[in-house]
Amino acid sequence: MTEHKLIIIGSGPAGYTAAIYAARANLQPLMIDGGVGRGQELLGAGGQLTITTEVENYPGFEHGIQGPELMQIMRRQAVRFGVEMVEDLATKVDLSSRPYGVWVDEREFRAKALIVATGASAKWIGLPEEAPVWEGGLGGAGISACATCDGFFFKGKEVAVVGGGDTAMEEAVYLTNHCSRVYILHRRDQFRASKIMLERAQRNPKIEFITNVAVERVHDPEAKRVTGLTLRNIIDGTTRELAVSGMFVAIGHKPNTDLFGDQLELNDNGYIKTKHNVRTSKYAVFAAGDVQDFEYRQAVTAAGSGCMAAIEAERLLEAEGDTDIVGTPTEW
Ligand code: NAP
Repeated sequence: MTEHKLIIIGSGPAGYTAAIYAARANLQPLMIDGGVGRGQELLGAGGQLTITTEVENYPGFEHGIQGPELMQIMRRQAVRFGVEMVEDLATKVDLSSRPYGVWVDEREFRAKALIVATGASAKWIGLPEEAPVWEGGLGGAGISACATCDGFFFKGKEVAVVGGGDTAMEEAVYLTNHCSRVYILHRRDQFRASKIMLERAQRNPKIEFITNVAVERVHDPEAKRVTGLTLRNIIDGTTRELAVSGMFVAIGHKPNTDLFGDQLELNDNGYIKTKHNVRTSKYAVFAAGDVQDFEYRQAVTAAGSGCMAAIEAERLLEAEGDTDIVGTPTEW
């Protein structure tokens, strides 16, 4: 077992930013980075940005930057300030008493404070074409789960949005700023989206709804870009082709909170509940980035909350000084 002042779990923009700030504040943070990942289900170090392509809206990169490269830069910056890396996935946490425990299989780490920055994962339909490009799929080459990130690349093109919730409506309306036509593909003819957002999409002349359909195939992995979709009608089983240049999957996100489910308060959708921006229900445990933010989900907002969590952790540890921890306050 090793003991630390601060452990950061997760290594996207929130985790790396927290690590940079904490290291510069002399907290010698240990980061458990998520390991090598296993495709889109388990993303590994760097998180969701490692499966995007160009990031054009992260301030400071005038000409844009590739998502994986941005994560590499943040990582090098953290390492330069002495952040200790455990290149693996946290498998268990114990938040019942301080110093809190974090395990990577049999290895045990303890810390007075924790920052949880394990992010969220977009839900995917489960088609082989959604796999990242390097696995022979089209992920990142015309298939996206973020219109704000990738809509710009489809200027004047026709695209499809899959889903029938608020995210699908919001993404479709946003995409009409760039695209000539946006198809909303939904598996039912009833919508989970709120009335106001559904009506906004229905009123938009660039949006066309296709209901009772499932995407069966995405063309064309050989061409390394999206050229169209095969849609199956769920009611009569017939299929049709739809020519589009992009597919935006908007069927929800899943916060990566399985480790914390019974130890931190979560909202109904599984996101960590926070107050004062980054404080969880447990004293000295902070949460930053997409694991607690279902509203903005941007690299820059995640980085901002990582910074807040590190500053809060530093203030808390500074106030405690080197005194031994006695008990864990329930209110903070
Ligand atoms: P959601 O409400 O859970 O909707 C997911 C949609 O995707 C549903 O229509 C669902 O179809 C469909 N779906 C799920 N799995 C699918 C699959 N395998 N294949 C095809 N379709 C599938 O998720 P969300 O839209 O991301 O919203 C999540 C939460 O965030 C909601 O509470 C929402 O109100 C909120 N939100 C709010 C705003 C806003 O207020 N500005 C914006 C975005 C999101 P079924 O209906 O058939 O299950």
